[in-house]
Amino acid sequence: MTTLRLILGDQLNAAHPWFRDKRDDVLYVMAELRQEGSYVRHHAQKLIGFLAAMRAFAAALQQAGHRLHYVRITEPDAALDFVALLQKLARHHRATALAFQLPDEWRLDRQLDGLEAATGLPVTVHDSQHFYTTREDVGAFFGQKQWRMEWFYREMRRRHGILLEADGEPVGGQWNFDADNREKWKGDPPAPVFPQRSRDLREVWADIQAAGLPYFGNPRAGAFPWPVTRSEARADLRDFIEQRLPYFGRYQDAMSSASPMLFHARLSFALNTKMLSPREVVDAALVARRSDPARYPLAAVEGFVRQILGWREYIRGVYWARMPGYAQENFFEAKAPLPDFFWTGNTDMACLRHAITQSLEWAYAHHIQRLMVTGNYALLAGLDPDAVDAWYLGIYIDALEWVELPNTRGMALCADGGFVGSKPYAAGGAYLKRMGDYCKDCRYDPAAKGENACPLTGLYWDFMRRHPEKLKRFPRLWPVLKNARARPPSLPPAADA
Ligand code: FAD
Ligand code: SF4
Repeated sequence: MTTLRLILGDQLNAAHPWFRDKRDDVLYVMAELRQEGSYVRHHAQKLIGFLAAMRAFAAALQQAGHRLHYVRITEPDAALDFVALLQKLARHHRATALAFQLPDEWRLDRQLDGLEAATGLPVTVHDSQHFYTTREDVGAFFGQKQWRMEWFYREMRRRHGILLEADGEPVGGQWNFDADNREKWKGDPPAPVFPQRSRDLREVWADIQAAGLPYFGNPRAGAFPWPVTRSEARADLRDFIEQRLPYFGRYQDAMSSASPMLFHARLSFALNTKMLSPREVVDAALVARRSDPARYPLAAVEGFVRQILGWREYIRGVYWARMPGYAQENFFEAKAPLPDFFWTGNTDMACLRHAITQSLEWAYAHHIQRLMVTGNYALLAGLDPDAVDAWYLGIYIDALEWVELPNTRGMALCADGGFVGSKPYAAGGAYLKRMGDYCKDCRYDPAAKGENACPLTGLYWDFMRRHPEKLKRFPRLWPVLKNARARPPSLPPAADA
């Protein structure tokens, strides 16, 4: 009597109840499949990070006495899909049952749905026990009249008793300190740096190359900068809490050419692979605030908690509530191809050059770079959402469709017509100059007219003029639309016009 239990590459949760007992009748299965390594062209660090973290997790399981079958990317079985692999292993091990944890992606959910029919064996599906909410929880929330993230977040704070007074009111008298989070960073406190790690992952990188997986970006395999074990992920969490959390809220919207992450957490890869749980991350921030309220201002801690307890869970809810149709939404009917500079960083626009070059170097950009630099350009220039999605899904080490898609299609491109965001996040050069320092290295200038005028400002007004009817549904944009009508055209029409 053997049960095969499948562990997916983003299910590296050592605290899952599955692993409480060592059982001779259970064989765990982990596999580096080509389908996962090539459903989009991934950044080299993303491929290395996932494979190295999976291998480290597998080694830890075996060391703890669990039975495991592991398929490496260079083995012939790596060419199978999950169903065919489990079919083959079930026959070989005379398995009598199969089990898996709920996948977070639609693609895998559909594939594993066919497992019982393909194998003829009973299949049990377990919750991954990673999120605060179930997949369906947030979907039910969208049935209400008002379903902005802010209302969801308040509900989550109440439900989990986080940052609440005894009477159920928010600590500090406010639910949200977002208004305090809009400072430009001027160099003090000093720029945080990426951690220096000595982990040599050249062997993993050699396997990826031998398997011929498509990739781009700097691999940094000799001194890999991302955590691939739980203890490294815990060290990153400690580093964030000690060094950057105190400034998190204040500079959350800032951009700087001196620091690729500023005071952001850089924890999304560890969270999305489940090496860290959202609860332990939120708890660490709350403990820090309790132990030293002077060093950890409420605005910083609340701002951080909101990202995990609010945005992360909400975005997942949007994904499950709106898939599969969500992946086709294209409210502005945008269809321009992705410019080549998205793959090279080779552009005169310093803000885009910086954000893209950094992403190619580190497989990371912080939220405001993703939203207000590359995302803003993609929105204004009318880039095809499919191409933009594929780019975001490939380039960031934390990119998994459940979180990438609603952020890209919904938040950045407003391709869902305003389901995730209350209006398109569109901005011209003046915004970028206000919140960052890229303009000082640029051949363009947001204040100039003519040849040196900032292309983003031109694109911004052009975007407002191209979509007057569609943009009317966002009352906050009415004054801008009126202004756009009054301005002379500054640019030839963009490719989606
Ligand atoms: P911090 O800014 O320090 O935030 C802390 C944590 O909060 C993050 O680690 C993340 O887990 C969570 N979080 C913050 N904002 C969001 C959000 N909008 N949605 C979901 N979780 C959030 N995040 C991903 O994890 N994977 C993606 O593929 C991804 N694609 C994105 C694409 C676009 C166009 C945009 C605008 C955002 C995207 N995000 C994505 C959300 C966010 O930008 C990243 O989670 C964040 O930049 C990761 O860096 P950090 O850990 O330093 O985050
Ligand atoms: Fe970007 Fe315009 Fe500033 Fe150049 S001038 S960095 S294009 S916002």
